[in-house]
Amino acid sequence: MIDLRSDTVTRPSARMRQVMADAVVGDDVYGEDPTVNRLEALAAERLGCEAALFAATGTQTNLLALLSHCERGDEYIVGQQAHTYRYEAGGAAVLGSIQPQPLDLEPDGSLDLSAVAAVIKPDDCHFARTRLLCLENTQAGKVLPLAYLEQAAALTHTMSLGLHLDGARIFNAAVKLDVPVSDIAGHFDSVSVCLSKGLGAPVGSVLCGSVDLIAKARRWRKMLGGGMRQAGIIAAAGILALEEHVDRLAEDHANAMRLAVGLAEVEELVIDPASVQTNMVFAWPDTATAEGLIDYLREEGVLVGGYGNLRFVTHLDLTAADVDRVVELIKRYFVTR
Ligand SMILES: *Cc1c(COP(=O)(O)O)cnc(C)c1O
Repeated sequence: MIDLRSDTVTRPSARMRQVMADAVVGDDVYGEDPTVNRLEALAAERLGCEAALFAATGTQTNLLALLSHCERGDEYIVGQQAHTYRYEAGGAAVLGSIQPQPLDLEPDGSLDLSAVAAVIKPDDCHFARTRLLCLENTQAGKVLPLAYLEQAAALTHTMSLGLHLDGARIFNAAVKLDVPVSDIAGHFDSVSVCLSKGLGAPVGSVLCGSVDLIAKARRWRKMLGGGMRQAGIIAAAGILALEEHVDRLAEDHANAMRLAVGLAEVEELVIDPASVQTNMVFAWPDTATAEGLIDYLREEGVLVGGYGNLRFVTHLDLTAADVDRVVELIKRYFVTR
C-alpha cells in the first residue's frame, strides 16, 4: 500500500525498534526513567525552552498547555479550523471549563492580529478572562512567517496573554525556513510537538515551556491518567526521531512538490503547486469525481484522504517512485473514464 492519508501512518524502522528494545528504563512517574529524561532534555534544548514534558499524544500536550495557561472560566483565542479547537473533541471545554474564542484563519494559516486584538475582552465581570492566544504551525502544511510570529508575540506580551503554539509539525516549518527550530519556538510561552508525525516515532509528543509551566502540566498529565511508567521504551523512539529524522523532512517536502507538479498536469484537478510549502498537497476535483477517484486508488493500493477535496501527505515511508506511481494512476483514471 502507498498510504498518503497522513504522516502518522509510518511504521518504526528496524533500527528504531532496536533502540526501543535497548532503552534503559525506570519509573517515569518517579522521574526515574533516564530515557524519558534524556528525551525531555533534548527537546527542551532543541526548542530553546527551559523544560519539556513527554506525553502520549499531541492532543494531550495541547490540552496540558491549555490547562496550564488558563483556569476555569478563562478564554483562549484560536483558529476556527485549528486542530486544538476543531479536532480535539472539545477537551479544553470539557476538562478545563476553558471557553474558546474561535476566529477564521487567514489563507496563509495565520490569525489576523487586529481581529485577535479586537476580541480580547476588557477586565469586566461580564466577560470571560482572555488569557491565551493559540497558533498552529504548520497549518495545513503552511508555514507561519517569522516576522508574523514576532508580531503575535509583541501583541500577546502587550496584552498580558500567554502564547501557545500547536507545533505538531514545527520541524517541517523549521526545515522549510532553513532555521533552527528554536527560532520559531522562541516566540512562544509553550510549544506542543508531535514525534509521531513526520518525525516517524510510533507514539509520543512533547510540551516545551518554562519550568513553572511544565511543572503545572506535569500535575495535569498525572490527573488525566497520562503518567506512564517505563515510558523510556517509547521515548527512545522519540530521541532517534529528533536526532535522525529532522533534516530528512526536506525529502518529504520535495516529494510533495513532485506530486503537486505531476498532478498539475491533470486537467480535471484544481491544484496550485506554488501553494505547496511542506509535506501536504491539496487538490480539488468536482465532488462526484473525488469519490470515484478515491475508490479507484484504493483498489490500486493507494490511500488518500480528504473531505470533498483530496489530501496527500508525504512521509518517510514514501519514495519518489511511489509518488510517480500515484501521479500515473491518477492520470490513467481520468483518461479511462
Ligand atoms: C496531529 C495533530 C495534533 C494532535 O496529535 P495527536 O497525537 O494525533 O493527538 C495536533 N495538532 C495538529 C496540527 C495535528 O496535526
